Amino acid sequence: MKSFEISNTCEVGLMSAAIYLYQLRKGPVSLEGELSVEDLELESLDELIETSAPLHYKVTAELFNQDILVQGELRISLDCHCVRCLDSFVHTVEVMDWSCAIPLKGEDKVEVKGDLVDLRPFIREDILLAFPQHPLCRPECQPSGYSVESDPKSKPLDEAEAEEDSTWAELDKLKL
Ligand SMILES: [Zn+2]
Repeated sequence: MKSFEISNTCEVGLMSAAIYLYQLRKGPVSLEGELSVEDLELESLDELIETSAPLHYKVTAELFNQDILVQGELRISLDCHCVRCLDSFVHTVEVMDWSCAIPLKGEDKVEVKGDLVDLRPFIREDILLAFPQHPLCRPECQPSGYSVESDPKSKPLDEAEAEEDSTWAELDKLKL
């Protein structure tokens, strides 16, 4: 009963993390593999984060009403530079309970190419959300009283300048 039919699209051989709709109609489909940094267009997103290792995924997809429900795990190791001391360290991003609903109907419906649905854009979007915003080599590397969430205007200046700036700001306020 098993047949290995070749689809009409020429991209099939190149595409990974893609699902055939005809397979989904038969039942849940499990996928496991790796996606390269190039596959996911994750190169040079952030000067403090280098993506050199592939992303590992292990997911199950199934049809649910008009959606494809995908659930599983995503994992990628990042070469980070600490925002504080600039030391390099490896940070592994793991999304253990990833899930997403890919609509097949309606305004936001996914593009189906030759019966194939590409999961890469969805994986990319959600793994990026899990990337560290301010990579730190260790939690205590952040000195007390220092907050990266504080005034973003004072961030690029060195401390002396920042202090001077705030002094002037205080004076300006007094003048008003
Ligand atoms: Zn550090």
